[in-house]
Amino acid sequence: KQQTLAIIKPDAMEEHREEILGEIRAGGFSITQLKEMVLSRDLAEEFYSQHRDKPFYSQLVDFMCRGPCMMLVLTKENAVEEWRSMMGPTDPKLAQKTAPGSLRARFASDILHSALHGSSSQQHAQENIRFLFGDITSE
Ligand code: ATP
Ligand code: MG
Repeated sequence: KQQTLAIIKPDAMEEHREEILGEIRAGGFSITQLKEMVLSRDLAEEFYSQHRDKPFYSQLVDFMCRGPCMMLVLTKENAVEEWRSMMGPTDPKLAQKTAPGSLRARFASDILHSALHGSSSQQHAQENIRFLFGDITSE
């Protein structure tokens, strides 16, 4: 089966984490690894390094470091695409129009505070998982 990396971002951790975990399980995903952590600035910068030249990059890094995140490895047939589809579009206004049942339509407050992350390809999923969980086994 396929794996993907999901993150419950600091905005959604405050009020919606249990409901989101319930939706993940109801969606047929197995949670095969899980950890709660506050990202350091360095880790957040590296995690989103492909957005380094975007105007929202420093706000994005501030937001991702502001409180605990939950990192999850999700396992399911076609997990990468299924999780992206369950999250819905990045912008919750668009999500509310085009995917009203999606998690971002329900739990994100604006395009920056997007509630969730999901890897965008199988290669990114493997990179994301190694980046956030790879060091655990060697400790
Ligand atoms: P993620 O990579 O977190 O799963 P995504 O793939 O849907 O989200 P990206 O385009 O990769 O969206 O953007 C990464 C994150 O940067 C978004 O989830 C959001 O927090 C923030 N972001 C994206 N676009 C904007 C924007 N125009 N203004 C402010 N923040 C943005
Ligand atoms: Mg992305």
